[in-house]
Amino acid sequence: MAVAIYRFARDLRLDDHAGLSAASAHGDIAPVLVVDRELESRLRSSPRRAAYFCSAAAALDAALRERGSALVVRRGEHAAELARLAAELGAAAVVWSASYDRAGIAADTELQAAIEERGARAIAVHDSPAIPPEESTAARSSAGEGYRAFAPYYDVWRELEPGSYEAPLLLSFVHSGGASERLPQPADFGSGDSVPAAGAPHARAKLEMFLRGPALQYSFAINAPVDDLTSHLSADLTFGTIAARTVVRETRNRMDDPFLLAEERASLRLFQRALAMRDFFLQLSWYNPQTSNGALQEKMRDFLFSQTHPLLDAWREGRTGFPIVDAGIRQLHATGWMHPRVRAIAASFLCFDLGVDWRVGMAEWERYLIEDDPALALGNWQWIAGVGADLAAYPRIYNPYKQARQFDPAGLYARKWIGELAHGRAGAHEGSAQIELPLGGAERYPRPVLDHDRAARDFLGRYQEFVTPAGGRRSNR
Ligand SMILES: Cc1cc2nc3c(=O)[nH]c(=O)nc-3n(C[C@H](O)[C@H](O)[C@H](O)COP(=O)(O)OP(=O)(O)OC[C@H]3O[C@@H](n4cnc5c(N)ncnc54)[C@H](O)[C@@H]3O)c2cc1C
Repeated sequence: MAVAIYRFARDLRLDDHAGLSAASAHGDIAPVLVVDRELESRLRSSPRRAAYFCSAAAALDAALRERGSALVVRRGEHAAELARLAAELGAAAVVWSASYDRAGIAADTELQAAIEERGARAIAVHDSPAIPPEESTAARSSAGEGYRAFAPYYDVWRELEPGSYEAPLLLSFVHSGGASERLPQPADFGSGDSVPAAGAPHARAKLEMFLRGPALQYSFAINAPVDDLTSHLSADLTFGTIAARTVVRETRNRMDDPFLLAEERASLRLFQRALAMRDFFLQLSWYNPQTSNGALQEKMRDFLFSQTHPLLDAWREGRTGFPIVDAGIRQLHATGWMHPRVRAIAASFLCFDLGVDWRVGMAEWERYLIEDDPALALGNWQWIAGVGADLAAYPRIYNPYKQARQFDPAGLYARKWIGELAHGRAGAHEGSAQIELPLGGAERYPRPVLDHDRAARDFLGRYQEFVTPAGGRRSNR
């Protein structure tokens, strides 16, 4: 009986699985999870992420046990462990889901070499995006690798149909795939945190619930952080407890409902666009892995953001005195997630009001987010910092007062997450509808730590000097 090893990582499910489908062509599948140093460090960095991952891995193991199999867990260096296991089982192939960030792509290359050296086939499959990078690239009219701008990407993406691999019952798993170590536990990664139970059945139920109701109001949800009604599927997509292609397909099916109101259809379209954004950033990193260290835009490679700022800790702790920024940071600390609109506002504050490097912000949030997708974090941070795929002529500096007026007009989001403001009254503050600051008390909420207009003008001055230097040479060193 031929055996193929399937190595699970960010694809912890059996349904609609491109990797398992590819593995099944080479034999009965031995399902393997390797906890290596890289995975351990990413789980150690965020306790909630560790709790989510362990819960999702346990759910996958339970699903395999229902099929008479079980997850084979190994701890150690992934290429060596998988090569050893391939030899033990006489596996014809080792299959896994491709990575999109630079470290992951390098690890995949190393794994491929180790497996091929053993004489087995090494196969990395695009499972994470709904539309694999090569498919969107092949569909473009002009030559070149990948897309650097979202608009033309989206034009192509929305015409493509995601593949379908919905046949888990046809997959055949080996019953004993070699000796297993115990399943990972949150405590292995120093986490005492608990998160709502994770795994494929939960992700599926979340999607169904979302498409029944909230998705039809998504255009409002994206602008109303206090309602908290976006899909919250990011961690499920990161760890593959649901396939992005399943989410895209189900969203498109929902759009076929002839009895939708025009605004409900528009909401579903906007949600679909968000999913396309995910694929866009995955392909961006796939074709430009070098940008994990530097700006995507060549002209911005030498622009120097500061590595620190006297107010950096205030931003980190959610104590800038700008409620919409601080509420976002505190939501992240409390839940491991931040509303998408507020992410952009809080990130902009770091990059432009403080002039601090987007990499500092990315590393900071990495310690709290449950999501674990370096390619998506990178693309978004670079976009916000004006050094990535957003081709706006000038950096989009968000005014936190205006943003609060627009997206949290009654200050309810701020009051929800900032304890010191919980009992404040909505009122005028710095010329905008904001929270009236409670005076006195042990836990006083700070006044704004800087003058936004001045900070934004200072940054634009440095930016202008850099892109159109007086002496003709680009530098802000
Ligand atoms: C500075 C900054 C950093 C970010 N870092 C991350 C990150 O580390 N990991 C991450 O998954 N997302 C990141 N995002 C994108 C986005 O904010 C989150 O995916 C979203 O908040 C997740 O909430 P949701 O699942 O309710 O999203 P929804 O609005 O319901 O969207 C559905 C799904 O589409 C995808 N999506 C939506 N917007 C984006 C986007 N801009 N880029 C990529 N995918 C998107 C996500 O997978 C999301 O789960 C970041 C955005 C910004 C501005």
